[in-house]
Amino acid sequence: MSTAAATSCSLENYLVIPDVSMDDRITAARETLGQHAVILGHHYQRDEVIRHSDFRGDSYRLSKTAAESKAEYIVFCGVHFMAESADVLSRHSQKVVLPDLNAGCSMADMAEIGQVEDCWEHLVGLGLTSDAGDAITPVTYMNSTAAIKGFCGERGGVVCTSSNAAGAFKWAFAKTPKVLFLPDQHLGRNTAFAMGIPLNQMVVWDPYMPMGGLTADRLRSAKVILWKGHCSVHQRFLPEHVDKVRNLYPGIKVLAHPECRWEVCQKADALGSTDRIIKLIREAPAGSKFAVGTEIHLVNRLAKENRDKMVITLDDSGCLCTTMFRISPQHLCWALENLVEGNVVNRIVVKDDVKHWARVALDRMLSIQ
Ligand code: SF4
Repeated sequence: MSTAAATSCSLENYLVIPDVSMDDRITAARETLGQHAVILGHHYQRDEVIRHSDFRGDSYRLSKTAAESKAEYIVFCGVHFMAESADVLSRHSQKVVLPDLNAGCSMADMAEIGQVEDCWEHLVGLGLTSDAGDAITPVTYMNSTAAIKGFCGERGGVVCTSSNAAGAFKWAFAKTPKVLFLPDQHLGRNTAFAMGIPLNQMVVWDPYMPMGGLTADRLRSAKVILWKGHCSVHQRFLPEHVDKVRNLYPGIKVLAHPECRWEVCQKADALGSTDRIIKLIREAPAGSKFAVGTEIHLVNRLAKENRDKMVITLDDSGCLCTTMFRISPQHLCWALENLVEGNVVNRIVVKDDVKHWARVALDRMLSIQ
């Protein structure tokens, strides 16, 4: 394949080109690749990137789309753990490309495999479970490395997203009396609390403290062991932000993503994954007012797409996911034009041994509603 626009495939040459020149080149490369490529765009991507995606969604929807896609190249405009999941779920012949390898996720980085293995060894050592997970089910949020997903798969555990976290907890509690939830303490706490588990039956494992900063008795009595991780974007929302928007805009509805703190979620009118937040706003009557506790690109897009309603961010101090923002139109163009030239750049490949068990955990997730 070739395109007139592809004059050089070195990334440095792209990074100096202004955004406005990128649209036509991305479109041309996309057309040349045809059905050989599919572009997936996460809701938190900037407009200049997401408008080129064939499918947009949250990590759950995109992981399903990746699993069903027939395209040879899956170009993932998201962050590293999402591209890893796409590689795990895709067929052997498919290649997953992340346009900027620096697009990571601070939450996923908060649970390193060595730390999680160390935690598990302590739990086994205390006699709380066997190594196979016969008394504690490890459940990991999609926002974790493939190694953590593989860890869970190998020990009878599962992956979940914010869309199906409650289903994953129910599935886990049907097997074992305890759950170890990785790596987002807020999603774990909000989900378990909504299922009727009181806060005093949850403990937080701090990987930087001896034995997680917990006593053996606290671990024995807990139903849910939460990993001490969080999303640096969603954790910025505070309960006082909810009070503030309600004072400023009487009648406004507060929608919060469950990665927000428990105190914020308790005050919110509704909780939801990004897909659920989108649906709630779309289906609301004209004139409705919403303050939304999630990433700013999605909130701004919702405001533009729902001009008959008022949609504002819950906190206007800039809740931007800086790592999602790393995928620029220049990176996308560079990745696509390289594919046109037959060069697969920034390919994400998960090692076979990790892939097997991560796939087991992801397949379990896809079977849970
Ligand atoms: S919004 Fe938070 S959890 Fe999502 S990719 Fe960014 S840092 Fe990670």
